[in-house]
Amino acid sequence: MLDIINITVGYKHFPVLKELSLRIKENEFLGIIGPNGSGKSTLLRTICGILQPWDGKILLQGVEISRLTKKEIARKIGYVPQLSSFAFPFTCEEIVLMGRYAHDGHRKRDYEVVNWAMELTDTLTLKRRKINELSGGELQRVVIARALAQEPKILLLDEPTVHLDINHRMEIFKLLWELKLHGITIITVLHDLNLASEYSKRVVVITDGKVVYDGLPQDIIDKEIIKRTYGIDVNIIKNPLSRLPLILPR
Ligand code: ADP
Ligand code: MG
Repeated sequence: MLDIINITVGYKHFPVLKELSLRIKENEFLGIIGPNGSGKSTLLRTICGILQPWDGKILLQGVEISRLTKKEIARKIGYVPQLSSFAFPFTCEEIVLMGRYAHDGHRKRDYEVVNWAMELTDTLTLKRRKINELSGGELQRVVIARALAQEPKILLLDEPTVHLDINHRMEIFKLLWELKLHGITIITVLHDLNLASEYSKRVVVITDGKVVYDGLPQDIIDKEIIKRTYGIDVNIIKNPLSRLPLILPR
């Protein structure tokens, strides 16, 4: 689905990702973790074409991303950035409709898809509300709806639950899981390691611009790996309900 081959990319002359490679199969649920500043957001920005790799390449279903137009990319990849801010008081429905830009479709179909995306994200009641007058959780759900309106095959999310309370955090992850069942490939950066453990089928650890660990949550959410990655000691037990690793702070 997505083949990231030896990419080096950064800002100005300062490389952030250094010869990073990662191969992602269709319909995966991939959690990306790693310390602040390790390059997780930079990786997502490069995958969706905002940044161009200085070296190496990214293949999307076998085609090099740099050869695709912005619209072609947007029909395959939806991106939910870490922080979204809107200067103009568009309604939520208008914001989600912007996700249809890449399709040049019929107005009727556009509204059908907008409706579908808003239903799935539980934002239909926000349709007429102004985007700049929402709570953090509502805003995040609308931004996800906009990405879904692109009808992407891959959804990239950058710490999607960072400002949300436990209830909305669960809601977002239940939604992502549902999207995976719809056949969408989910790639999400996570700061909450327990969420990574519970939801990801595969966890990738990025440190200093490189993939340093890649595997099942059972193998990656590990005392020694957490220590090496974050420099902290934690206790890890097996969640009695899911049998997956659960981190307890010391
Ligand atoms: P992460 O998401 O893992 O916290 P980022 O990819 O955001 O890390 O950042 C990696 C490094 O790149 C950091 O050192 C950060 O300061 C730097 N960086 C991020 N965005 C920019 C930017 N727009 N211009 C210059 N440097 C940046
Ligand atoms: Mg980041």
